[in-house]
Amino acid sequence: MSRYMSARFASLEAYVPGEQPQDKKYVKLNTNESPFPPSPQVIAAVNREQVGRLNLYPDPECRRLCSKLAACYQVKEENVFLANGSDDVLNFAFMAFCDSARPVAFPDISYGFYPVYARLHNIPAREIPLREGFVLAAEDYCGLGCNIVLANPNAPSGRAIPVEDVEKILRTNPDHVVVVDEAYVDFGAESCRRLIDTYDNLLVCMTFSKSRSMAGGRLGFALGSRELIEDLNKLKFSTNPYSINRLTMVAAEAALDSQDYYLQNCRTIAENRSYTVEKLARLGFTTIPSQANFIFTRCSKLSGGTLYQKLKERGVLVRYWNKPALKDYVRVTIGSKEQMDVLLNQVQAILEEG
Ligand SMILES: *Cc1c(COP(=O)(O)O)cnc(C)c1O
Repeated sequence: MSRYMSARFASLEAYVPGEQPQDKKYVKLNTNESPFPPSPQVIAAVNREQVGRLNLYPDPECRRLCSKLAACYQVKEENVFLANGSDDVLNFAFMAFCDSARPVAFPDISYGFYPVYARLHNIPAREIPLREGFVLAAEDYCGLGCNIVLANPNAPSGRAIPVEDVEKILRTNPDHVVVVDEAYVDFGAESCRRLIDTYDNLLVCMTFSKSRSMAGGRLGFALGSRELIEDLNKLKFSTNPYSINRLTMVAAEAALDSQDYYLQNCRTIAENRSYTVEKLARLGFTTIPSQANFIFTRCSKLSGGTLYQKLKERGVLVRYWNKPALKDYVRVTIGSKEQMDVLLNQVQAILEEG
C-alpha cells in the first residue's frame, strides 16, 4: 500500500475472485461460467461493422437493449437498470440504499462480495446465520428493520427459497430495500421479479454472465420500481455513464433474440447436475440440493482442501473455501456432460489411490 492510500480504505480487504489460471488448460469448474458459447446470433452480431464503430461512445441510456429487456421480462423500461456486470449493480445498490444509519443484513454464508461492498461503503452489516444444512429460514429476515441482500439461489450452497418466502420478507420490511440477487435463477429456481409492481422495496438483480454465456461481456441488470431504478441511475451517471460498451450491447440484444438456445442450455445444465449428483452419491458424496449451475458437495473420506488440491493436480479446477463451516466441501460448476465425466473419473481415481 502506498503512503497516499486514503485512510478510509487502509483496512479494506478486496474480494478474491475464483482463480483464472493461464498456466495450462484446466477443466474449469470453479467460477460458474457456462460451458456453452454465446448463441450463433450473438457471435454474428459482434461483427466488423460494430467493431468499426468503436470510435463512437455507446448510448449511455442503452435504450434499444433496455426496451428489449423490458419486453422480455414484461416490465416497463423505467423498471430496468443496466450496469457492467451484476457486481456493478450490487455495488450501486449498496451505495444508493445503505449508509451508517441504514445498515444491511445478509446471510453469514452467501456471495463473498456482499461483506466487501459493506466495508467499501462503510455500511454496518449484520450477518444472519443460515440454519443447519445451509438452509435460509425466511423468519430470520421478517421485520428485521434494515436493508436485506439475499442470493436466490444462494451461493455456494445452491439452495433456493420459494417466492412466498421472499414475499414474507418484503411485506415485513416495508421501509427497507430487499435486494434479491438472482444470478442463478434460470437454472431451476422461481424468480420473484413479478413482485416488483406490488413491492416498491424490491430490487431483483440478474446477470448475463451465467445462463446467457456472457461472463466476458460484463452485463448485469436490475428490475425494480421506477424510483429505485432512478436512484441507481443517478449513481451510475455520477460514476461512468458509458460502462456498458457497444460490443456488449449488441451481443446482449442478440442474446435476447436467442431465448430458445439459452433455455435449452439451462435444461442441459439441470440434467448434467442430476447426473453428477447421482454419480457422486455412488462415490460416497453428500450434495446440498441445488437449483443453480453448481453444486456444493462433500466426501466423508477427503477434506474439501485435499480434494481441491488433488483435482487441481489432475487438471480439474473447483472452488474451495478454507473456512470452518465450508472446509469439508467443494463447489463444483456444472459444465458439459464431457466435463462432468472428466471430473467424475478423476474423483474416482483420487479415491482409489487412497
Ligand atoms: C456470478 C455472481 C454475480 C456476478 O455476476 P457478474 O454479472 O458477472 O458480475 C452476482 N451474484 C452472484 C451470487 C454471483 O454468483
